[in-house]
Amino acid sequence: MTSDFETQWRLYRRAEVRLPRVRRISPPAPPAAPRRVGGLVELLSRGLYDAVVLDAWGVLNLGDAPIPAARAAFAALRASGLPLRVLSNDAGSDAPQSAARHARRGFDVRPEEIVYGLDLMAPTLETLGVAPEECALIAPRPAPRAEHTARMCDLSDPRADVARALVLLSSVGYDDATHERLRGLLRAQPRPLLVCNPDIVSPEPVGSAIEPGYYAHALAEELGIEPIFLGKPFPGVYARLLEGMPGLARERILCVGDTLHTDVLGGAVAGMHTLLVESGFFRGQDLEARCAEAGITPTWLSAHL
Ligand SMILES: [Mg+2]
Repeated sequence: MTSDFETQWRLYRRAEVRLPRVRRISPPAPPAAPRRVGGLVELLSRGLYDAVVLDAWGVLNLGDAPIPAARAAFAALRASGLPLRVLSNDAGSDAPQSAARHARRGFDVRPEEIVYGLDLMAPTLETLGVAPEECALIAPRPAPRAEHTARMCDLSDPRADVARALVLLSSVGYDDATHERLRGLLRAQPRPLLVCNPDIVSPEPVGSAIEPGYYAHALAEELGIEPIFLGKPFPGVYARLLEGMPGLARERILCVGDTLHTDVLGGAVAGMHTLLVESGFFRGQDLEARCAEAGITPTWLSAHL
């Protein structure tokens, strides 16, 4: 793995076979080409939207550093009084911890405004009929959602051999030995692999970090397994998001993000409008060309939030 953009882009393109298909959906019909705007403030002034859904990494912050232009846009969004949500693929934190980090960076996000793919972990296990005690967890301890994860064994625990499901939350501390162990368990006994952060990479102030989706897609390619992805761009997290905003028409909701294959694809498949910003994954790239290449078209493009 490398922090080289082309390599990361190819990984997202290769993963498309496992992602939702944007062309199947309507409304709104995907625009033929995205339109350039100055940012969220310009769109707010046009009165096009009744709610805004923000990605965090690459939109509000890079690593721990706030993106300066995002602060003013976020303040304008707050001043507008529109409902806002932060839709996050972070599966390493509980909402109060995330909200505290956002506050430190200058964004007053309330815990109840954050929606995670991780929120779907417990309901998905319940649907599978698997108890937390029957799961092996891949995440640093203490892990978020302690009421469930504290009851899961670690991957290194012999009980993981007979775990009925494997739950991948975080790539922090994930090394070659982790990957070998996970691969060995899936080979020995195929079983559900829940991936609560489908991202392949996330942008840092310099370079990028490898995220759980990277390992999950690699295992899917190698072993022919079908990981259960919980988070953007998969539909479950959008259903949960919309449940929490009753009465809002989805075509009046704007999803803002810095990646095509998570934020824009997921928002479009869910029937919402999308704004792709250049301040994260696509730093220094030709956005129009990348959108055309992938066939994923946001409604809007801008340099930053
Ligand atoms: Mg992002």
